[in-house]
Amino acid sequence: MPSPIRVTVWNENRHEKTHEEVRRVYPNGIHNALADALKGAGFSTRTATLDEPEHGLTEQVLAETDVLTWWGHMAHGEVKDEIVERVAKRVLAGMGLIVLHSGHMSKPFLRLMGTSGALKWREAGENERLWVVDPSHPIAAGLPERIELPHEEMYGEHFDVPAPDQLVFISWFKGGEVFRSGCCWTRGAGKIFYFRPGHETFPTYYQKEIQQVIINAVQWAAPGKLPEVTYWHKPEPLEKLD
Ligand code: ZN
Repeated sequence: MPSPIRVTVWNENRHEKTHEEVRRVYPNGIHNALADALKGAGFSTRTATLDEPEHGLTEQVLAETDVLTWWGHMAHGEVKDEIVERVAKRVLAGMGLIVLHSGHMSKPFLRLMGTSGALKWREAGENERLWVVDPSHPIAAGLPERIELPHEEMYGEHFDVPAPDQLVFISWFKGGEVFRSGCCWTRGAGKIFYFRPGHETFPTYYQKEIQQVIINAVQWAAPGKLPEVTYWHKPEPLEKLD
């Protein structure tokens, strides 16, 4: 049997400490809710949070991570640039990165996208309908053609990201906006998936279809066995040159 995919679930874990409303929904933190679902799917899963030394993302932790998931919101600015570079370097070398919800403004995501990550938002608890727009994509495997979220924060276009290589979901919101909710890119050897839902005051990450998307995304983003590639040397020609 192949060894299980190694996932590190990163969470800022600040709302959970300061907002009773959030603690009620995620008493053990968003990271543990996500980690429980990923463990249940058979992944080797650990968590890391902002207030740990090196934000829990030491060289060794990242070296032992196939896929990193990222949830942050109120403290993006506190993530040290040194750690951002470390994460980006690992993604370019093949580590998968799954950026969740307000992680669209996180430093690692913006570093890898090169755009502002800006969008429109409204916190009215309106319903969201996620449509699968690429049914053959592995991240859509086993899902219904749409996912209904009874209450979510609205994110609206335009979403300032590079055009995704593959678009898996588009969201519709009661207020009329639409949003590219499931976007895939590659950077270097790494695969990146942005997934929109997951506002901290709603129980979105307990919803089975949402967990299935994240499980599928981990499988998709895991690097597999990459070929050995070398850079920056002047190779001897393989054939005799005239
Ligand atoms: Zn939010």
